[in-house]
Amino acid sequence: MALRTLINGFPRIGENRELKKVLENYWAHKVPFDSVEETAAALRRKHWRLQKDAGIDFISSNDFSLYDNMLDTIVMLNAIPERFAGITDKNERYFAMARGNGRAAAMEMTKWFNTNYHFIVPELRDDMVFQLEPEKIVSEYREAKAMGITTKINLIGPLTFLELSKTKDGDDSFKYLHKIMPVYKQLLEEIAKLDESVYVQFDEPGFVKNPSGRMLSLIQASYKELAAVSGGVKIIVTSYFEHSVEATKLLCDTPIWGIGLDFVYGSRNLEELECAASRHVVAGVVDGRNIWRGDISASLELLEGINKTVPRERLVVSTSCSLLHSPYSVKNEPESAIKKYLAFACEKVEEVSLLAKLFSSGGLSEAEKSLIEENKGRILSGSNPLLIKNAPAAERPAKSPGKSRTGTYAERIVIQRDRLNLPLLPATTIGSFPQTPELRKARSDYRKGGISGADYEKALKKYIDHCVAFQEEIGLDVLVHGEPERNDMVEYFGELLEGFHFTQNGWVQSYGSRCVKPPVIFGDISRPEPMTVRWISYAQSRTKKPMKGMLTGPVTILNWSFVRNDIPRSAVAMQIALALSDEIVDLQKAGIRIIQVDEAAFREGYPLRKENIGEYEQWALEAFRLAVSTADPSTQIHTHMCYSEFKDIIKTIEAMDADVITIETARSGNKLLNVFKETAYRNEIGPGVYDIHSPRIPSTAEFREQISARLEVVDKKKMWVNPDCGLKTRNWEEVRPALKNMVEAARSIRGEILHAADVS
Ligand code: GLN
Ligand code: ZN
Repeated sequence: MALRTLINGFPRIGENRELKKVLENYWAHKVPFDSVEETAAALRRKHWRLQKDAGIDFISSNDFSLYDNMLDTIVMLNAIPERFAGITDKNERYFAMARGNGRAAAMEMTKWFNTNYHFIVPELRDDMVFQLEPEKIVSEYREAKAMGITTKINLIGPLTFLELSKTKDGDDSFKYLHKIMPVYKQLLEEIAKLDESVYVQFDEPGFVKNPSGRMLSLIQASYKELAAVSGGVKIIVTSYFEHSVEATKLLCDTPIWGIGLDFVYGSRNLEELECAASRHVVAGVVDGRNIWRGDISASLELLEGINKTVPRERLVVSTSCSLLHSPYSVKNEPESAIKKYLAFACEKVEEVSLLAKLFSSGGLSEAEKSLIEENKGRILSGSNPLLIKNAPAAERPAKSPGKSRTGTYAERIVIQRDRLNLPLLPATTIGSFPQTPELRKARSDYRKGGISGADYEKALKKYIDHCVAFQEEIGLDVLVHGEPERNDMVEYFGELLEGFHFTQNGWVQSYGSRCVKPPVIFGDISRPEPMTVRWISYAQSRTKKPMKGMLTGPVTILNWSFVRNDIPRSAVAMQIALALSDEIVDLQKAGIRIIQVDEAAFREGYPLRKENIGEYEQWALEAFRLAVSTADPSTQIHTHMCYSEFKDIIKTIEAMDADVITIETARSGNKLLNVFKETAYRNEIGPGVYDIHSPRIPSTAEFREQISARLEVVDKKKMWVNPDCGLKTRNWEEVRPALKNMVEAARSIRGEILHAADVS
């Protein structure tokens, strides 16, 4: 008997991002909602069909969404926040929750575990009336059925849903469990009516994040209750991105049909196999969130290992998680040296199917053996000399273990203050200035060969001139060049470094209609030539004030890329760090005195399980320190992070030892900033005082309030004044007055401090 196969979920954005396009046209009032529905239905049918054709047994419905599955669950439970309750048109209400409308602010969005996918955060209230809205789920099931495909229905499990919800006063969100369980049960009753027996997959990735005692105390009772709904519904409880052994121990004692486990990122799941084997085990052995071909022999071996405990008839082969996190198909990529190593969603579906076949055949046929043989040549490994081509780059990290800057912060800051001669509360920005349509056009024309290198350079220099003149005019103290040459803070460096590949169509949904195309790191990384020096030194030549060099840090480059998996991530991070350290040498030679190394994604790389955090922190820290190790004591190193939650990582931030760190605080205020005071953080800090995510232009008085508030927590001798993040998404009409007011406020408070010192 062949092993059965299951796909956790399929990407919905479409081969050519059809969903994105139709949604954006609908939002722009260019097409009616009917067009959205037509496109969505066509995508669902196409995706079901191709999984069916690949021989997949368990194909999902309700994995589709017009925006986000958590938002769909909010609607399913009727957990509509009050500010949207008045909108009677359901579609209008749905998108208003996702994106806001003129009157009501959008619901918050945050990252889905350790992926770059963002979900809508449920807002729960005591007076909410939860009631079932099963329409989407039922109609998708029927839609597939009409084309002869019986699907398993995907739902977000009640415990993960609650864990990710926020409540009014930050109370325990599990207090709503008894209110939502009846709705889930009623849903299962509706589902039971659909067919003789229907499979339902409850996604419970909340089980992998060191589940709290509270969470654990609820698992068994909840799933016993759900499984007790009669009518032949078969429940699979699925977790992913890590192991979930604590939950498995509890689930195996409930009458659910199956347990879905990730054996790629959660190898500890093997420890609870015996218990899981009392249910069906859905074994995630094909990596659902990378872009590499799987190692067929290794996956077969893994399956054989699992099969020692789980009998064949209770074993189902699957992806490690939903394929939502991988691009559509490699077929659409142009020929390249790395193409044969790639597997996107469609290829992963094939892989699951192939594994089931190979596993099932008694002895392997010649054809099957040659398939396995062929697969060996398509796996990234040290045996692909074409790919791993840069021995010096690969060997370099070992030659500089634990390298960091010379001098302590206390020694460096004296030299830097002397050299930079900055006033109290120096005012600066985070790097980018508004990306204008003309700028975007110049960049794309240049790429397409529409304008010459000289014309392109002229356009960029004009932008830089304008930026520098503006910053001087309003009196900023440390200037930036504005980043006109960059599309994206990672892509820009990836394109200039060796070892990166850029796909043509490797789009992955980030949120709603937004997709990202992460760079692919496939080889050893080296820097053929300086990457930023030309622009920065030009900008510096236009001013006497210090011009900040602007680099993206090694950890952020790594975390926002698809990374080769034949060597540890830490090793790749060190290679990037060394390339950046060379850039710092060149910037210094060009006379640059301040260099900012952005680590916007430093936090994102944190492992889901506490026990793995120490190791990540150690190498991430080492990579950052290595990147800036070439900075002279007289060069001031800044770093920037776009968030405010530092409580749990403050020791690591301290150990990064940047001379100045700029962070987000305009929205969160002093509450989160306090941790720097409590831990007696020594280095300088620029707590953001301008919320760049909003089009609002704060007045000078407001900026004064913001700065004064920050001064309650940060020592005036160590504080900088700056926005929360880069300004590239704003427009000049907003940025000009806002920055002018910010500088004015900084200056007036500076004057008052100096005056008070004079008087006393
Ligand atoms: N220097 C970058 C900019 O200003 C930083 C962006 C970021 O932190 N996301 O755009
Ligand atoms: Zn930022």
